Amino acid sequence: MNADLKKLLDIQSFDKHIADLELELRKIQQKEERILNVVEAKLSQISDVKEEIDELEKDLKFKGDLLEETIDNLNKLELKQNSISTEKQLQAVTTEIDIARTNKSVLEEKIESLKEQIEQKNKGLRELEDRHEQLKKTLKDYQERFSQRREEINSEIDKISKTKEELLPTIDTKILRKYEKINKWAKGTAIVPVEKEACYGCFMKLTPQVLTLLQDTDEIVYCPNCGRMLYLDEDSED
Ligand SMILES: [Zn+2]
Repeated sequence: MNADLKKLLDIQSFDKHIADLELELRKIQQKEERILNVVEAKLSQISDVKEEIDELEKDLKFKGDLLEETIDNLNKLELKQNSISTEKQLQAVTTEIDIARTNKSVLEEKIESLKEQIEQKNKGLRELEDRHEQLKKTLKDYQERFSQRREEINSEIDKISKTKEELLPTIDTKILRKYEKINKWAKGTAIVPVEKEACYGCFMKLTPQVLTLLQDTDEIVYCPNCGRMLYLDEDSED
């Protein structure tokens, strides 16, 4: 095989390796963002539930004060009832007492129901907080693994890039430029093997003349159809 082509084949595989590693980096980033979003969503659920509990607590406080007032009022009315002389006054006070008693029992029921709601909400809140803690832990574990893998990938990319940079100046400039030109559209398949007498880039059957040129010369041979650089796969050469 042409010596420059052999080097370009290495360059192509370095580029492919780098592209794969960069893709892995992007996937890691996406996965990390997904977990972060779940953690944040849980946090926002927690803050919603806390707000709901706050509202319920305020309502409870309001109704509790109202109940106290009602009880005070009821006590006063009951005292008043004992010191009343006329039938008419007695009737008026009795009606007031009835109304206050009804209010009292309605408020007591509402307070009971509010307390139950708050208890339920608090239970839900504790579950959410537990889940949030677990998720944070999961995130931390992932982030540790991710950052370790990121370091590995980056140092691997550095290593490959260095090797590539060392190899590049040793390749014939004209051939290198030609390769880069093809690679612009071929994106990682500028150099392809010949498989079953066809170009492995565009899959067009090659003429006997092209195949002979490949077998008998050390020149770089281009696919007459797509223009990619061709080489004979060592395994299928025989
Ligand atoms: Zn082709």
